[in-house]
Amino acid sequence: MSSPKSPVSHSPHSSKFCPKCGKTSGTFIGLFCRSCFLKDNPNFVSFPDALILERCNVCLKIRPQGKWVNWDDELVHTWVGKQLKHRLENPFTKIEIVPNPKKPKAFFVRANVSGETDGEKVEFLAETNMTIRGAICNDDMLVSSDYYEGIIQVRFTERTPEKIRAVQDEIDAAMEPMRKEDPKAQVVNWVLQKHGLDAWVVSRKAAKAAAVAVTRKHEGTMSVSGKLIGLDVHSSKTKNRLTFLVRVP
Ligand SMILES: [Zn+2]
Ligand SMILES: [Zn+2]
Repeated sequence: MSSPKSPVSHSPHSSKFCPKCGKTSGTFIGLFCRSCFLKDNPNFVSFPDALILERCNVCLKIRPQGKWVNWDDELVHTWVGKQLKHRLENPFTKIEIVPNPKKPKAFFVRANVSGETDGEKVEFLAETNMTIRGAICNDDMLVSSDYYEGIIQVRFTERTPEKIRAVQDEIDAAMEPMRKEDPKAQVVNWVLQKHGLDAWVVSRKAAKAAAVAVTRKHEGTMSVSGKLIGLDVHSSKTKNRLTFLVRVP
């Protein structure tokens, strides 16, 4: 933080006087001139560094707010507007989304925000970038639900609906951060069993991570077995489906 500059004589005709830099004219925000105010409040109006919008590689639906929907300009603008952080009263925001000519799937985003703070009208410009990230929507994932590389078999000494629900949440939560990088970190089917439940997971790696998380959480035991499910035509490597058996008390 810079220390305030020595006071500058104060024009008797002006009620404005920035206590930091001594400015007596221009736009003020609260007690300070705009530039001093923004130095102290750099995030008064700001976007995250980058916005990421998921789009299904198959049907081109987008997931701006947790739900897969068809692309709709108005919806995308609304979503972008919600990512803007500000502390203005009576804000009015105008958002522009322009394709980046140099990068496919990338957009420039700029927002013109006007509003009030401490009774003063102020206007700001905020900018960021938006990128489209390829993913697979739930529907298209279900279509391919005969394909899964991992099964997590969770077995309890006694099965209760609460335990089932808790384990489903834990498996989902364990894979959620992986899903950003890998849409295959997804359960395509839950199968209830007499002593627990099975989760069919598209990615073997994600299945393992979730199985380990559930085992740790409940201080259970885990064992792994494999079964050949075919030959990958691209790599001509054999593919195994792994089963992670997790026994929890
Ligand atoms: Zn100032
Ligand atoms: Zn889709």
